[in-house]
Amino acid sequence: MKIGAHVGASGGLTTAFERAAAIGAETIQIFGAPPQMWRRRKIRPDECEAFRVAMAETGIEPVFLHGPYLINLATDKPEQLTKSTDALSEDLRLASAIGAKGVIFHVGSHKGAGFAKRLPQIKKALKQVLKDTPDDAWIILENSAGQGGSVGSKLEELAAIIAAVGSDRLKVCLDTEHAYAAGYNLADGDALEETMALFDREIGLSRLVAVHANDSKIELGGGVDRHENIGEGHIGRAGFEVIMAHPAFREVPFLLEVPGLEKEGPDKPNVDILRKIRAKVGAG
Ligand code: FE
Ligand code: FE
Ligand code: ZN
Repeated sequence: MKIGAHVGASGGLTTAFERAAAIGAETIQIFGAPPQMWRRRKIRPDECEAFRVAMAETGIEPVFLHGPYLINLATDKPEQLTKSTDALSEDLRLASAIGAKGVIFHVGSHKGAGFAKRLPQIKKALKQVLKDTPDDAWIILENSAGQGGSVGSKLEELAAIIAAVGSDRLKVCLDTEHAYAAGYNLADGDALEETMALFDREIGLSRLVAVHANDSKIELGGGVDRHENIGEGHIGRAGFEVIMAHPAFREVPFLLEVPGLEKEGPDKPNVDILRKIRAKVGAG
């Protein structure tokens, strides 16, 4: 189990490795484009090559991209759907070019229309994206906290998308805060066992390729997306001991997306806590 974090990449993609090294991250997630804008800069082949070299030299891998927050495959606006599939496709091409595993992204929100109503559109969009992008980049669906009709707060919804699309390139990233806020009590041994059995039954554990390791500012089932530093939230340090001891996560990279003690994002103290827990529970 590698431990790492979402890190910034402003000033050039390879600068992510400097930020990673500074906090002791063994694996990273970066944005391939500004998260709150549709506009993106073109990344040149030499920058992609430099990234691959830096990844090999530092040994900091796997690398994941996180897609823009504007993506919404469940939208009722055709223009936003087109922009969403374009952005996802661009990120997947970039992932392939820089040697990242794939793109973790939020499926989007049906804004109350209902998941079932939007599933055919989501399926069609993802099939198109699969066709338009390199085979070596995974499309990684992230579970949601459930606020505002966001898709994927129930594992069954992610399972339904994966079954509908029917591609090995579809994977899942489990965000611990989102899951906890959606009512999955990962901090409790029995409930975690139940959740991971459900995951395996509905989705298959082989599709679980990343964890977003975040404590939760809000209570179990609170339905809101609010990350907290490890040990300072409702999941707590004991909860992360339960999570990291579970065999389902043994080979899965843990990526922090916490506020940080100085509110500057994932930091060394948070990485160090996860490392200590990993050592304690013998999760290698
Ligand atoms: Fe996310
Ligand atoms: Fe996340
Ligand atoms: Zn979140």
